[in-house]
Amino acid sequence: MPDQASAASTLAAAAPSEAWNKCEAVKNRAITQCPRVVFLLEAIQKLGCNVGEAPEKTFVSCAKLDETKAGGFQLQGSEDPHIFLAEDIAVSLGARQVEQTLVHELVHAFDQCRAKVTWENLLHHACTEVRASALSGECDLVEEVNRGIMRKVGGQGEACVRRRAELSVAMNPSCRTAVAGAGAHSTPSGQSQSNGASSSASTNGVHPAVAAQAAAAVAATEEENLRARLKAKAAVDAVFDRCYYDTAPFDRMP
Ligand SMILES: [Zn+2]
Repeated sequence: MPDQASAASTLAAAAPSEAWNKCEAVKNRAITQCPRVVFLLEAIQKLGCNVGEAPEKTFVSCAKLDETKAGGFQLQGSEDPHIFLAEDIAVSLGARQVEQTLVHELVHAFDQCRAKVTWENLLHHACTEVRASALSGECDLVEEVNRGIMRKVGGQGEACVRRRAELSVAMNPSCRTAVAGAGAHSTPSGQSQSNGASSSASTNGVHPAVAAQAAAAVAATEEENLRARLKAKAAVDAVFDRCYYDTAPFDRMP
């Protein structure tokens, strides 16, 4: 028998909010008209991962997420990834940022389908974060200028990719404990990810948002945070050259 909370969530699911409807419209435009998004969806399907008969309905969903997150992905029981887009942020962000968020998540999904990423492994996590940041366009010069970050033009892209990958990897529980934590991944806030959907026990993968919350719950000290950042930096440094120039499934940096 459902409790009150689940009954309320069932009711909410039955009556989509205005934000959800808008988010779905933005999402549907992106997955049918954004060449990078369309190409990645096709590439994921070619690898044999299930994106559903109608990917706009089954592979990418709008959901209410943690307000600092723009999107995220979660492994389903079969280990096929599912992507979430934060409905409130999708409405407030421009179409370009929504596309970047989708591409970022789709690169993770592609890597998951291609190589079964082990999220507890910081090197695996670092590699897919480097690729997602590099291929999504979130480190294009204009995005850094919008964030108020100016660097020498020659190298700002690489510096941005390193910074964002390090922030994401530092949220991995494996960065914070001697024993590997639950599989998870995360990216920095801004165009980042999360699934705010419930941390359902039926999923194999642990979503970055869940990992982030778990990490926060530990009430990390400054020293722990610093140690995590150093571990994350070491992981990103170790894989950077190999992963930054691995532009698959694109022939070159799009
Ligand atoms: Zn990421």
